[in-house]
Amino acid sequence: MTDKFDFLVIGGGSGGLAAAQRAAEYGARVAVVEGGRLGGTCVNVGCVPKKVMWTAASIAHQLNYAADYGFNIEFKGHDWAGFKARRDAYIKRLNGIYARNLHNKEVEHIEGWAVFTAANEITVGDRKVQGERILIATGGRPWRPAIPGAELGIDSDGFFELAERPRKVAIIGSGYIAVELAGVLRGLGSETHLFARKDSLLRTFDEMLQKAVIQALQTSGVDLHFNADPQSLEKTANGLCVNIVDADQDFDGFDSVIWATGRVSNIDELQLNKAGVAIDNKQFITVDKYQRTNVKNIYAVGDVTGKAQLTPVAIAAGRRLSDRVFNGMKDRHLEYHTIPTVVFTHPPTGTVGLTEAEARKEYGDAVKVYRSRFTPMFYGLSEQKGFAEMKLVVTGKQEKVVGCHLFGDGADEMLQGFAVAIRMGATKKEFDDTIAIHPTGAEELVTMR
Ligand code: FAD
Ligand code: NDP
Repeated sequence: MTDKFDFLVIGGGSGGLAAAQRAAEYGARVAVVEGGRLGGTCVNVGCVPKKVMWTAASIAHQLNYAADYGFNIEFKGHDWAGFKARRDAYIKRLNGIYARNLHNKEVEHIEGWAVFTAANEITVGDRKVQGERILIATGGRPWRPAIPGAELGIDSDGFFELAERPRKVAIIGSGYIAVELAGVLRGLGSETHLFARKDSLLRTFDEMLQKAVIQALQTSGVDLHFNADPQSLEKTANGLCVNIVDADQDFDGFDSVIWATGRVSNIDELQLNKAGVAIDNKQFITVDKYQRTNVKNIYAVGDVTGKAQLTPVAIAAGRRLSDRVFNGMKDRHLEYHTIPTVVFTHPPTGTVGLTEAEARKEYGDAVKVYRSRFTPMFYGLSEQKGFAEMKLVVTGKQEKVVGCHLFGDGADEMLQGFAVAIRMGATKKEFDDTIAIHPTGAEELVTMR
């Protein structure tokens, strides 16, 4: 017997769950096929456990200032194992909530891995399932270069499995995951080395943010190694050794090496050829602005499409797709620009819109930049000063704000509201006309000259 659904969603992560539940709300008969844990990357091995780890490291950072605020605290260390157990239990609860949500919305949860047999049909184990419409939301997984000994390292999935804090750790990469994990591990006390193959970190971000993140990581005690291209990993008597091309030094004695060198799409097991779905040269599924693949009634959202690999992007694309297909909202689609994003460094890094370099390329001399660097009041009583840095990129006579770049405590929470203003086309004058909230870091954004 073959089961038939109006909407068959492959992948129970951020994008798949969002699309499935929205379609079910509109009355469609929906199934979600998930081979792993409900919630996908974000809930199980991404945003959620990462934010918990980030919070732990932020508390460690704050403890450094407790004495300045009059607290007499004897620091007796951090119980990684107990903390991990609580983090894992929290995620297990979330998995349960996701399962109940599907049940409550009458979305069938099919457990197992989907394989296409035709453009409208998949198998999951022995079961055949057909969908009038099929959504591919299978996300991605960590990638590491194929160098000798690469398998001796772990990746971000492995990081979340660590039963104890590594004493000395190497992180290879220079993007989101590399800088976030470096901050967490250093914050919790590991000797932390970060190897970046080029001469900067977060290279797609505004230059001011790149420099701020580098300064903060260095100040916190992370050993940064630039132009460090790994050629092999090996096991020695001291632990793990990272061999760097042309290096005149050994990097040895690590008890963990973490690959943070990007992610690839989860398509290998799907047998997309049976459905005729096209992929690009980086193995991401090709979609148009309505998330349509080249095959009628097959769609794709989220990381598997390789665009802005962020949870809210996958969710928004999935919900808009269901709004359009199951609720007649004809032109509803996600616009992939002005997407705010935060890197959970210590303190956080937030960005929306164009970097200064991108704006100058697009608008030339019409670009003007407002910048501010200051010591937040939090550090006023202390000898150990932190810093915050902000930049607004504006264009034209109207001084329309096209980019906003923030580094500092609270930047993660600040950015969302400013992203709304920028999306609405706010000008610098409108920022200036807004009354500041004092004393905060955010007030700098409406008082820059
Ligand atoms: P996923 O969430 O990956 O879901 C895909 C699901 O499909 C998985 O559950 C998988 O098991 C399932 N699947 C795959 N193949 C099959 C198959 N053949 N059959 C059945 N099921 C299948 N984003 C943020 O916005 N903020 C953050 O702070 C953040 N932090 C991150 C930290 C880390 C360490 C990582 C790795 C990512 C982070 N991200 C963050 C990115 C975010 O997790 C992803 O962008 C998001 O999860 C993508 O959602 P998705 O639905 O496309 O895919
Ligand atoms: P990123 O794309 O952010 O960074 C990958 C890094 O790998 C790049 O910095 C690149 O360096 C480096 N790299 C690539 N190949 C090699 C190689 N052969 N040797 C050494 N370094 C290499 O990927 P991540 O894995 O960090 O994260 C994946 C995605 O997940 C992110 O892009 C983001 O969309 C999402 N994410 C979001 C988070 C958030 O919202 N806070 C947190 C974590 C992940 P270089 O730049 O020097 O070329």
